[in-house]
Amino acid sequence: MLDEIIMIVGPDYVATDVETLYAYSMDTSPEKGHLAEMVVRPRTTEEVAEIVKAANQTKTPIWPRGAATSLVMMGVPLSPGGILLDLTRMNEILEIDEDSMSVTAEAGITWSKLESELNKRGWYTGFVGPGPGRSSTIGGAVSVASVMYGSAKYGSACDILLGLEVVIPTGEIIRTGSSALKRAFRHCRYGIGPDSSGIFCGDNGIFGIKTQVSFKLYPAPEVTRFIQYGYKNLDNLLGCLHEMASYRLASDLSFPLYGKVEGPTEKLVDAEVELLDKINEKHGGRKTNESFARMILDEQIYDFFPIAGRMGNFGASCNKLPIKRTKSFFDFFQNVLKEHAVGIQKHEVLPAWYAFISQNAIDVLPTFAIPVGNKEAYELQTTIVKIILNS
Ligand SMILES: Cc1cc2nc3c(=O)[nH]c(=O)nc-3n(C[C@H](O)[C@H](O)[C@H](O)COP(=O)(O)OP(=O)(O)OC[C@H]3O[C@@H](n4cnc5c(N)ncnc54)[C@H](O)[C@@H]3O)c2cc1C
Repeated sequence: MLDEIIMIVGPDYVATDVETLYAYSMDTSPEKGHLAEMVVRPRTTEEVAEIVKAANQTKTPIWPRGAATSLVMMGVPLSPGGILLDLTRMNEILEIDEDSMSVTAEAGITWSKLESELNKRGWYTGFVGPGPGRSSTIGGAVSVASVMYGSAKYGSACDILLGLEVVIPTGEIIRTGSSALKRAFRHCRYGIGPDSSGIFCGDNGIFGIKTQVSFKLYPAPEVTRFIQYGYKNLDNLLGCLHEMASYRLASDLSFPLYGKVEGPTEKLVDAEVELLDKINEKHGGRKTNESFARMILDEQIYDFFPIAGRMGNFGASCNKLPIKRTKSFFDFFQNVLKEHAVGIQKHEVLPAWYAFISQNAIDVLPTFAIPVGNKEAYELQTTIVKIILNS
C-alpha cells in the first residue's frame, strides 16, 4: 500500500514518521485524534483518484483535510491508521471567468489567496470565508457549510457555490452544477439538468473528496461602512436584528448589534446605512461608535480571542437558529453556566457568547477559553459543550 501511494505522489509527499503523524492528529479543537498510517499530499485530481482506488483495494480509510482549522475534530483520524489526505498542495486558481461571473479554484486554496487574487481583478465572492479565513481552505468551507464574513447578505460557502469537481468513493471523478455537462460553462448550479452539489455540501468529506470548487463572483466593494448599536433589552435587539437581516443589506450582522455595509458607491451605501439606522431607531437602540465592528470585520482577524486572554484550549459548538429563538437558547446557556458556576470560577473557565447572522438564521457559538494545561478546566468545558450539543 505505502509503495503504491509513493508511486502515485512521489516520495516527497508521503510521510510516515511519528512526528508528522502526531502533528496531523490534531485540529484546533481541544481534543486529539488518532495517528494515521501515513500523511499524503497529492497535487492533482488524478492523483487523488488513484489514491482512492488504491485505498479501496485494502478498505483503508481516508481522512481528507484542508487547513484543519475545524474546532470540532474534523480533518483528523477518528480511528487509528488510514490515509490522512492533506489537500493544501492543490491551491491554484484555475479560471476567473468574468463573462460568467465565476471563479474555479482547487479545493485546497486558502480564502486569503483566493480573495487577494480576485481583488486584483476587481471581484470578490461575497461570502469571503469563516473565522480563520486567512488560512482555512475553500474545500473545507464547503465541506462544513462555513459561515461568517459576508454571510448576512450572501449566506454560507454553499450559497455562493456553482459547482464542484469531486473524487467519489469509487475513485471516479465527477462534476456537479452546470459543469457536469461537458460543453457547458461553470456559470450556474441549477437549471441545466439535475444538480448533485448539495449532497457534498456540509458532508464533512464523507461522500467524496472535493478537488475543484466554482463560486459566484460579485464586484469587489468600493465603499465600506461599519455600524454598531447598543441595546438594553434582548427582545428589542433580536427584533432589530431580525428586521435588518430580512433586507439582506448589510454583508455582516453580528450580535450584540454591529455589522458592515459595503457596495459600489458612497450614495448607495449611505442610503443602506440610513435605512438600517431607521430600523435601529424603531426598535429603541442607540447608535454607538463603531470601533468594535471595525476591529472584528475590517481586517477579518480574531484579535479579540487573544484580548480575551489565555486561549490555551478553546471549546465551541455552532448552533444555527431562527433569529428570534436566540433568547430561549441564551436563557438555557445562562442556566447551564449557573449550574456550573462554582467549577467555572474555581478552574478559571472563561465563557463567552458569540453570534452572527447568516441570511435568515443566526449562528450562535457559546465558547469557553481555559488556562493552558488545566485538566479540570478542560474537562469542565467539555462537559458543558456536550450538554449544549445534546440540548
Ligand atoms: C478561531 C476560529 C474561528 C472559527 N470561526 C468559524 C466561523 O466563523 N465560521 C465557520 O464556519 N467556521 C469557523 N471555524 C471553523 C473552521 O475554520 C471552518 O469550519 C473552516 O471552513 C474549515 O476549513 P479547513 O480548510 O480548515 O477544513 P478542515 O478543518 O481541514 O476540514 C473540515 C472538514 O472538511 C473536510 N474536508 C476538508 N477539505 C476537504 C476536501 N477538499 N474534500 C472533502 N472534504 C474535505 C474534512 O475531512 C473535515 O471533515 C473557526 C475556527 C477557528 C479556529
